[in-house]
Amino acid sequence: MEKLSYASENSTSAWSTYLQQIDRVAPYLGELARWIDTLRHPKRALIVDIPLQMDDGSIRHFEGYRVQHNLSRGPGKGGVRYHPNVDLNEVMALSAWMTIKCAAVNLPYGGAKGGIRCDPFALSEGELERLTRRYTSEIGIIIGPQKDIPAPDVGTNSKVMAWMMDTYSMNNGTTVTGVVTGKPVHLGGSLGREKATGRGVFITGREVARRAGIPVEGARVAVQGFGNVGSEAARLFAEAGASVVAIQDHSATIANADGIDMAALSRWQLEHKQILGFPGAQKIDEEAFWRTEMDILIPAALEGQITRARAEKLSCKLVLEGANGPTYPEADDMLAERGIIVVPDVICNAGGVTVSYFEWVQDMASFFWSEEEINARMDKIMTDAMVHVWNKANEKSCSLRTAAYIVACERILMARKERGIYPG
Ligand code: NAD
Repeated sequence: MEKLSYASENSTSAWSTYLQQIDRVAPYLGELARWIDTLRHPKRALIVDIPLQMDDGSIRHFEGYRVQHNLSRGPGKGGVRYHPNVDLNEVMALSAWMTIKCAAVNLPYGGAKGGIRCDPFALSEGELERLTRRYTSEIGIIIGPQKDIPAPDVGTNSKVMAWMMDTYSMNNGTTVTGVVTGKPVHLGGSLGREKATGRGVFITGREVARRAGIPVEGARVAVQGFGNVGSEAARLFAEAGASVVAIQDHSATIANADGIDMAALSRWQLEHKQILGFPGAQKIDEEAFWRTEMDILIPAALEGQITRARAEKLSCKLVLEGANGPTYPEADDMLAERGIIVVPDVICNAGGVTVSYFEWVQDMASFFWSEEEINARMDKIMTDAMVHVWNKANEKSCSLRTAAYIVACERILMARKERGIYPG
């Protein structure tokens, strides 16, 4: 009944992986399992055709999606992905995982996700803007600040959110800042949003390390990915007295057993956009990253990074899943056998959606908080959520991943049960 992770090394589709996860958690849910079929059926899925006039005058058609997986606990929440692999199956699975993530952290949201099958790097800025505006108009019939609130995901950013907000507002005749989150700060965006996911990785890691008797001070930390999530998590661990001994990004793998100077690396990264060439560490082989002597591993780059073979070699005591789906189920089993604790993505990287929630609340109230207030509130929400999952794992003698799914499914199914079935 364990084995909850995103995809298998012998890969199946994302949606069927999600269905397997739901099958596995069902036996833990007691009489609430009677309602579990609700999680096997997305509530609403919209496919839209987006005709786009290209800069050269030709017309191309793109396929876009918005799926609202479950709205039992509140409006839908989830990002919009621009990527050539986007399809309905993937968007359905991503929307379902948002349902689980929002419930695991106890945010008053359901799960949703959207996307357009396109290569955003092959489009001009004008083409991207027209694509975004037409997509927003097409899905405008189901999104809204009380219905479903999109956000950035792979291939989209705060600029895309500004276009979405403007298009929705133009179509509705009034400025509606709360229709999307992840906006620029001067357009109703929230302070602290950019660093929130990395900060959440640190908070959940700190709480689990304390309970598992792993001292953060003096811990050796290895981080894959030095982008938005990885750089902030690494910086906070270093600030807490840990030593960041290895970092890998798309350009290189670097190591320094005495600890990498985070401030110097951040300055290098700002200038060079990659870690390759940083003089304060040695360049090592890509695969040697996984064999580095470390206490804490933070995968914060891509999905499917911790294979069973890599899990066999890892020397760490704790894995903090900053990325979505970095660990294969086969590897998850190996880590469990070896006594390595994994803080699962659905809770570990939920700091981003938590501050997105704060952005929405601030937009609704038209009253904005200081960064200190935002960080303090996030710390409390993430700590409470992590402690709850930790206690559930002890109570059920299961992994933190399974415990996070139990906590989330209990909340969603309780809401479903109490709402009842309309029309009865
Ligand atoms: P980012 O684009 O800012 O950074 C990605 C990093 O991964 C970069 O340092 C890049 O060099 C590195 N990378 C890319 N390919 C690599 C490879 N083959 N090997 C090693 N490193 C590689 O992205 P991000 O926002 O930091 O997101 C990272 C992960 O966290 C993703 O899985 C994302 O879905 C997840 N996540 C992000 C947020 C958020 O708020 N940004 C929230 C939840 C989950």
